[in-house]
Amino acid sequence: MDRQQEFVLRTLEERDIRFVRLWFTDVLGTLKSVSVAPAELEAAFEEGIGFDGSAIEGFARVFESDMVAMPDPTTFQVFPFEGGVSGESARMFCDILLPDGGPSWADPRHVLRRMLSRAAEKGFTFYTHPEIEFFLLENGAQDGSVPTPVDTGGYFEHTTHAVARDFRRQAVLALERIGISVEFSHHEVAPGQQEIDLRYADALTTADNIMTFRHVVKEVALSTGVQASFMPKPFTDQPGSGMHTHLSLFEGERNAFHDAGDPMKLSKVAKSFIAGLLMHAREYTAVTNQWVNSYKRLFPLALPDRITESPAYVCWGHLNRSALVRVPAYGKPNSARVEVRSLDSATNPYLAFAVLLGAGLKGIEEGYELPPGAEDDVWSLSSAERRAMGYEALPENLAEAIDVMAGSELIAEVLGEHVFDFFLRNKRAEWEQYRREVTPYERQRYLSL
Ligand code: GLU
Ligand code: MG
Ligand code: MG
Repeated sequence: MDRQQEFVLRTLEERDIRFVRLWFTDVLGTLKSVSVAPAELEAAFEEGIGFDGSAIEGFARVFESDMVAMPDPTTFQVFPFEGGVSGESARMFCDILLPDGGPSWADPRHVLRRMLSRAAEKGFTFYTHPEIEFFLLENGAQDGSVPTPVDTGGYFEHTTHAVARDFRRQAVLALERIGISVEFSHHEVAPGQQEIDLRYADALTTADNIMTFRHVVKEVALSTGVQASFMPKPFTDQPGSGMHTHLSLFEGERNAFHDAGDPMKLSKVAKSFIAGLLMHAREYTAVTNQWVNSYKRLFPLALPDRITESPAYVCWGHLNRSALVRVPAYGKPNSARVEVRSLDSATNPYLAFAVLLGAGLKGIEEGYELPPGAEDDVWSLSSAERRAMGYEALPENLAEAIDVMAGSELIAEVLGEHVFDFFLRNKRAEWEQYRREVTPYERQRYLSL
């Protein structure tokens, strides 16, 4: 047994913790959990916990359904609170193995790990830092009726809305108590909409943290009598919930995106990385924006109808919030980074980070040239102007996104054949189901025909 594993067992004993939850994530980004008694954990570290993979979305074909969850002791965390029940519990993320001990090709954590080692072979560590938006809603309707936001607040609003302010304070404290550092938190533009930004960390830690974040935020909301939703676009006339993510590559202690001699202070590595993000953007959008509903958020609106700042066209810009990739102003060399603005809060973070890294590394490997940046408000250009400037549109809906992804060698390679095939099959089924649905919108418009 290694030192980390010993530390876990000792902590459980010293703090008299009775429940250890083992967490992992399915291909669609849903958190799965199995509890073990501390007495079972020593064996679990040796052999893992067996489960039926065919019961989990995307994990296995029925004829090879046995899977093993192997707890990763470096992710051990004591939870000082849980659903109002007193007493501590603990959790660890698991890697999923096949019965022969090899990594499961279906485990999103493994997909990301594989890309991270590709980056490591080139000397890079990949860091990410998400800005997570979500809605706080009056607890209730799951029947498709329009939900009620808990407040009428707006961007950075502070004084009037006790529920949201109190909620954010509690959520941030809860996150900090389990070792997740929060950088900023504020009210977002829409009524009931909140944003909490996590401090940057290596991409695997960030992805684990996002899964933990969603769980904790939902629990804190429930305990306050409200509901937290990470749905990309709950309201037609309000902004959706994005998960803008800042990306950087480090070589040891040095930020590989920074070059003091460049007018924009961006290194060649950074420029090729951005070029990769752009070149393959249409291919990875099905992963960063995986639901039918995701594409209602990416809808482009010019002023004066604009309600949101979510991207719809493939371009980059320095400080430009209408671009897919924005290079923020930064002070210290080590904060050089790029912000990808398409991701939404309901993406699978492991797969999303894997495809973004894959696209960026491809740009570096092939030495892609960075096209000129967008200076304009890209949403307000005419389509002829956009065509002239070479800005392609992101996929308009899930069907288009799936079609583009299906033809992508890069995404097939990054996700691996199994996840790639499962994902496409699952998303096609989702689209087909949506396509045959007759909606309230249609009845409103067409019943009088
Ligand atoms: N809610 C916006 C979106 O859907 C982003 C607003 C912002 O700039 O933070 O991406
Ligand atoms: Mg925001
Ligand atoms: Mg942002």
